[in-house]
Amino acid sequence: MAISHLQPVVILLVLSAFASLPTQAAARGGHDPLDDGAHEPFSRKLLEDKPPQITEEMVRGYMSNAELEAAVHAFGSRCSNISRVYSIGKSVNHFQLWVIEISDKPRQREAEPAFKFIGNVHGDEPVGREVLMHLANWLCDNYLKDSLATLIVENMHLHILPTMNPDGFALRWRGNANNIDLNRDFPDQFFSVNNDIDYRQPETRAIMNWVKQEHFTASASLHGGALVANYPWDGTRDTSKHYYGCPDDKTFRHMASVYSRSHYNMSLSKEFEGGITNGALWYPIYGGMQDWNYIHGGCFELTLEISDTKWPKADELPVIWEHNRMSMLNLLATLIKSGVHGRIFAADTGRPIPGSVMIKGIDSKVSASSTFGDYHRIVVPGETYEVVASMEGFQQKSTRIMLEQEAVNLDFILDPDGTDGQMKLPRNVGGCHCDNAKLFHVEEAHLWLYLLIVSVLLTLYLVFKRKTASRLASRLLTYRYSSLRRPVAV
Ligand SMILES: [Zn+2]
Repeated sequence: MAISHLQPVVILLVLSAFASLPTQAAARGGHDPLDDGAHEPFSRKLLEDKPPQITEEMVRGYMSNAELEAAVHAFGSRCSNISRVYSIGKSVNHFQLWVIEISDKPRQREAEPAFKFIGNVHGDEPVGREVLMHLANWLCDNYLKDSLATLIVENMHLHILPTMNPDGFALRWRGNANNIDLNRDFPDQFFSVNNDIDYRQPETRAIMNWVKQEHFTASASLHGGALVANYPWDGTRDTSKHYYGCPDDKTFRHMASVYSRSHYNMSLSKEFEGGITNGALWYPIYGGMQDWNYIHGGCFELTLEISDTKWPKADELPVIWEHNRMSMLNLLATLIKSGVHGRIFAADTGRPIPGSVMIKGIDSKVSASSTFGDYHRIVVPGETYEVVASMEGFQQKSTRIMLEQEAVNLDFILDPDGTDGQMKLPRNVGGCHCDNAKLFHVEEAHLWLYLLIVSVLLTLYLVFKRKTASRLASRLLTYRYSSLRRPVAV
């Protein structure tokens, strides 16, 4: 397609759409429709011709970039048993984009869901970077003392990027050092203007590479200037402002509601019913990070506006953290305590395979990891789903499950194309409690042995882990992850 021929039409459409932008657009951000620039895609320029003056008085008490970097490394030293610190790249002005990973096995790959929090996407929205350091320190301080902290540390990998835009923060403005709005810099599904790699900013590229490397199940970016949990889609096909849900609309509404309802007052919003909003209904944006994550990373991302004021007084930051604490923890716990989880194996080799999983009736896929073949599918509890696993070169397999409040563990063993799919293992191998699950019939003895060995090792591991954990925290923990999942194998 000759994009350059379409561009004037698209610009006109966008001009008309943005003429009706509400004032709140400054939160996720607007753009300057009068300046599409000869060298820059039109949707990435900034609205703020005259950004509000950020005074030294407003900034007092917030961590500088150097102080934040020191805080990240101090955390890494203090909590080295449950964390590692790594960089995903550098900003335009060569500031390292530091990430804290929190897990009981922070340097290892595990068959567990991964979540990322990203703060300070916009340089002039600094609350997120402060709150994320509170979150990291709270998890460290409460691991093995608080059941929710322990659940999160032991059963998922949490990655925290306190600032995506340190240059914008230092410059006291919204964009990065090139004055590009990073939340308009991602490839867009509707308009291709952002798809030229030469224009992509280093901070954006770092996020995109990160999403390709890690197997994120879900994520959230933190913003300021409003109080609402925003979910896809962020844009519409015709640029008009209306509700435009993605295939997982119900799932996203559920996730956004978990955040909103757990918040001190987000769900009481007079502006947003229940404290949540579809992005395109609020105001359409293009090139946003949220939709790109869902489409290209299979990662369910929310855009969270966590403070009505972009620069609240620094002494209010601990209160804002308290208002968001249970929201953050419950959103993370949702990945563990609900949804469908499992692994996909090849029947002929017994090895895990990076297949994909779909829910019938929802036009989206999540992929299994290449290391363990594990997948993690968030869905709304209390409904029946037909779960379909597939992989090129293998026969698709599906089963119906009733997903109650707790998570379901559902493993798939796929037969290669050209085999008859007959299986010979007894029904209860693999712990199947599902009426619709098929009998296992495995032709080759080595697979049977493999499964037996894996089962024995897994049992030993679980017994060992349970004993170790109970020694450490038997009086403190109220529940454990392993007891939360209902196992099914297909
Ligand atoms: Zn923002």
